[in-house]
Amino acid sequence: MPDNLVAKSMAANTTSVPMFEILTQYQSLRSEIETAVRRVLDSTEYIGGAALRGFESNLGQRFNARAVAVSSGTDAILASLMALGIGRGDKVITTPFTFFATAGCITRAGAKPVFVDIDPATFLMRADAIAAVVDAQCKAVIPVHLFGQMCEMTPLAELCGKHNLKIVEDAAQCIGATDSRGKVPGELGSTACLSFYPTKNLGAAGDAGAVIVRDTALAGRLEQTRQHGETSRYHHAFVGGNFRLDGIQCAVLNVKLKYLDTWNSRRRQIADYYSRRFKNTDVIAPVEIPGTHHVYHQYVVRIPRRDSAKEHLQKHGIGSAIYYPRPLHLQECFQDLGYREGAFPVSEQACREVLALPVFPELTDAQIQHVADTLLAFYK
Ligand SMILES: *Cc1c(COP(=O)(O)O)cnc(C)c1O
Repeated sequence: MPDNLVAKSMAANTTSVPMFEILTQYQSLRSEIETAVRRVLDSTEYIGGAALRGFESNLGQRFNARAVAVSSGTDAILASLMALGIGRGDKVITTPFTFFATAGCITRAGAKPVFVDIDPATFLMRADAIAAVVDAQCKAVIPVHLFGQMCEMTPLAELCGKHNLKIVEDAAQCIGATDSRGKVPGELGSTACLSFYPTKNLGAAGDAGAVIVRDTALAGRLEQTRQHGETSRYHHAFVGGNFRLDGIQCAVLNVKLKYLDTWNSRRRQIADYYSRRFKNTDVIAPVEIPGTHHVYHQYVVRIPRRDSAKEHLQKHGIGSAIYYPRPLHLQECFQDLGYREGAFPVSEQACREVLALPVFPELTDAQIQHVADTLLAFYK
């Protein structure tokens, strides 16, 4: 390539902003991660072992609870439902405005998902919506702490207590967050389910997850669930699965866990910058519940002409994403639940209006300025 073209493409690169970029973070920790991974390889403790124990101990301490590492965030939810004995004939209440796994696990456990609409400002599930649908078959609720902000857990836990509903928190997007009363995931729920998918706030080098649990008996049950319901060697008291997490992933996560708060602070700083830029414009910034500690797994705006705005960003080298384009009650696989378009108007409207902007911690100030400038220019 001639020199001038190289220079040009490099200049273009300085203002291009991907939606996700996880290489920079890995490079900044490369030697620490590689040392930890090599230790697991040399020890041959690929399943279980010191790396698993070390990670579960450090993660549990953060939550003042037990942490049971599992193979993914999805498996954290499925194992939680199985360990709580939720299955055939039971209903589980959740939101249609979430990642598929939340509801998919309810069906896989043998139970039936019951959806409730979300709060229009925060996209979160609310206690009063649950009260309107609960019946005797309902055994549990899965609140989703969406985009990095927690649902208000105190009213939710009060209502669930009254109706004898278990709470399995989908905390896949909110590690590091607290609700407006300082509650952490797993504090008021039976379990909280974390995901360490590579682009989550704490990302493994592959699939990984964990269940946060305070009840020690339930923690034991989860450990058995993770190991095919095995209660002693080759004795299976119930049917579980293989939900184990590899030692290598635990080693990676154990290195990265130390930096999580710093990364979350940077996410909050980026979100704060965007929100200041979007004040009094066509771009509706995310709403923080007063007192909540939002960790901005995603920075999601609502905008008019969303799809054209997304194309405009793309043309200027800026990645963005739609979480979520289709609510779960309108998914083909859930047609037999009998929901029609219009059943959950707030979720359906959110699906048409939301756009997630790049918010990963390694973004530079110049990059986030370029994102805000470019999006605002679209509405000029
Ligand atoms: C990522 C995610 C999950 C599933 O986690 P995996 O680790 O990808 O299985 C579940 N629920 C929500 C809300 C998520 O964002």
